[in-house]
Amino acid sequence: MSQSYCFSTWLVDGTGAPAKKNALFCIQNGLIFSVQFPGSEELCALGKEFKELDFFPASTILPGLIDCHVHLAMSGKTDREFRAKQLLNGFEQNAPLIEHRLQRCLNLGIMALRDGGDIGGHALRYMRQNGFSGVRVKCAGKAWRAPGRYGKFIGNPPEPGMSLAESLKAECAHVDHIKILNSGINSLVDYGRQTEPQFGPDELVRAFRQAKELGRKIMVHANGRLPVQMALDAGCDSIEHGFFMGEENLKKMADRQIFWVPTAVTMKALSDYPTAGVQQAGTAEMILQNQLEQMRRARELGVRILSGTDAGSFGVRHGQALAQELELIAQAGFSVEQTIQSATHASAQLLGLDDELGSLRPGMPANFVVVPGPPSELPGSLAHVTAVYLRGTRILPATK
Ligand SMILES: [Zn+2]
Repeated sequence: MSQSYCFSTWLVDGTGAPAKKNALFCIQNGLIFSVQFPGSEELCALGKEFKELDFFPASTILPGLIDCHVHLAMSGKTDREFRAKQLLNGFEQNAPLIEHRLQRCLNLGIMALRDGGDIGGHALRYMRQNGFSGVRVKCAGKAWRAPGRYGKFIGNPPEPGMSLAESLKAECAHVDHIKILNSGINSLVDYGRQTEPQFGPDELVRAFRQAKELGRKIMVHANGRLPVQMALDAGCDSIEHGFFMGEENLKKMADRQIFWVPTAVTMKALSDYPTAGVQQAGTAEMILQNQLEQMRRARELGVRILSGTDAGSFGVRHGQALAQELELIAQAGFSVEQTIQSATHASAQLLGLDDELGSLRPGMPANFVVVPGPPSELPGSLAHVTAVYLRGTRILPATK
């Protein structure tokens, strides 16, 4: 039996509970055996008493992080020529890039991702071929959209003559979850313009019933009142983006405890890189402010908010973007503990990974991250990860 100890001055456990001081973890065979909170006298004795002790004073320990919305097969670079070209990449070209992005995530303490699809299905193929390498990835494969509508780089419409439900039945037995596009994207010219839903209400209801029969959860890309409302009424598991969804939809999400992944960092990225023109950057900034206002309201109403970045979008870099999204969630009024919960326990619940990730309690695998400073320095301190532990083994820094 292997046994080791890890001490950190603060603990944020991922459940939203208040941060605690002086956490001593006992790790046995990769699992958390116990968590104790020693007093100051016991603390002095710690160094002498335990041979296998990793000691992190003036640091905070928290669960491995989760990004609930990424596109692993795409780069977050802002070079438009590069962005257009990458869509033509074959699997062999994309595989090493995907591997690199996964490594970058792990170095920042990100241990699970939910992928929203790519037109080549490369992220899904990569994960099926390579398996687990430290980061769990749940994949949609390709997304589903209506003919002629937004989303050509991530998904296809159903085959002619087939309904969405029939297509899911035929093609989705091998994916981890189903991604459906039910609106367009934000206009950077015409602030607040809403787009038509991509699918009809009955079609969505039948498709979602089919997805449930397959045992798959449904993530729906939806912006604007009607597209979001239809996705909620048809029984989706999460709303992705949800820009301009409005108060009624927020209330519905709170009532039904449906997850919301606001991906606010996508608009931050567009406003920070005004390569397309000053006016568009200004519009992106206005959209961001509107989204932050919706997030504030979501907090008041008790909507379950999750951190997802849409990494792979313009200016949204895999790995780094998660801390940026968390900054925005904190800006919207969520406490440090709630902000971290959105990227840990709450996300693990949606991904069905809450028995291995998202909280730090006895019996759970010892998957955690150590960052410098007190909890009040989160989420900014996530940019300076001190150590990453995977099933009790310190993988970063890899000197042990
Ligand atoms: Zn996306």
